[in-house]
Amino acid sequence: LMQVYRPLNFIGFVYREIRQGLTDIEEMFKLLDQKPEIEDRPGAKPLAVTGPVIRFNDVHFAYDAERPILKGVSFEIPAGHTVAVVGPSGAGKSTLSRLLYRFYDVGSGAITIDGQDLRDVTQESLRARIGMVPQDTVLFNDSIAYNIRYGRPDANDEEVRRAADMAQIGPFIATLPKGYDSQVGERGLKLSGGEKQRVAIARTILKAPPILILDEATSALDTKTEQDIQSALDVVSANRTTLVIAHRLSTVVNANEIIVLKDGQIAERGTHFDLLGRQGLYAQMWSRQREATEAEERARRVAADA
Ligand code: ADP
Ligand code: MG
Repeated sequence: LMQVYRPLNFIGFVYREIRQGLTDIEEMFKLLDQKPEIEDRPGAKPLAVTGPVIRFNDVHFAYDAERPILKGVSFEIPAGHTVAVVGPSGAGKSTLSRLLYRFYDVGSGAITIDGQDLRDVTQESLRARIGMVPQDTVLFNDSIAYNIRYGRPDANDEEVRRAADMAQIGPFIATLPKGYDSQVGERGLKLSGGEKQRVAIARTILKAPPILILDEATSALDTKTEQDIQSALDVVSANRTTLVIAHRLSTVVNANEIIVLKDGQIAERGTHFDLLGRQGLYAQMWSRQREATEAEERARRVAADA
């Protein structure tokens, strides 16, 4: 029995990993010849985007029935605005992004885009309107150009290059002997976490979707690259409805609203300055990160002097 069980379990594992990575799920289902758990409802309509305004309305969710993850989360992202979600690891932040991309359906409550419940629209139309830079990017075993162009298959070479430059990955690609034709993934070049993330950002820049989800999109990058990419992301998210999940708080200072999620509930919400003034969880996280950054800078200066 073990012999049968193990490969099945392995497929389950890969499947879960891929879901977590929020990579190209349709491609993966083809590979595994599996049906997605979420299916279009009969008569599902294409999502009609006008705003788009995103609303989470008293959302409850659990991966396993015994363990609730989100416990009544409500917020709205007005058209063209950026809402940031911060909070301790395990709070349920990435779960919010997985629900918005509809990898899972809410347990109760609803998520709507321009008033349309996600469960009533086709998944294809939903995902066509969302650009997602996940926490861990999984690339296709194909060329770098293919991986970037995936964001918009009819883009020409010049547009692919421009997106790569904006995502600060262009100069790196130029150093590769085969440039944009270099194969990446398991059977090709191994890219670092930060390089993969920049490829995902280039793909999203090219896709230019009306809705953006950035899940710790710059977490695998060093501080300098992060600042450069942050400015590229600021350009992409301008006038787009954006949900940004952030590890480094310095990247969310300008968000229209910051939500502090803790144990699946909203603990605090407001602008950066509102939250600093409240001297609660956010203010604590902020001063802790300030201290860590300053210590890092001191250490670097000492190392440079030595
Ligand atoms: P965050 O992004 O805030 O760190 P997540 O949304 O990724 O947190 O996860 C919230 C909780 O849900 C965590 O306790 C995590 O272990 C659990 N979790 C995440 N994905 C799954 C899954 N596929 N099955 C079961 N539990 C999960
Ligand atoms: Mg997360």
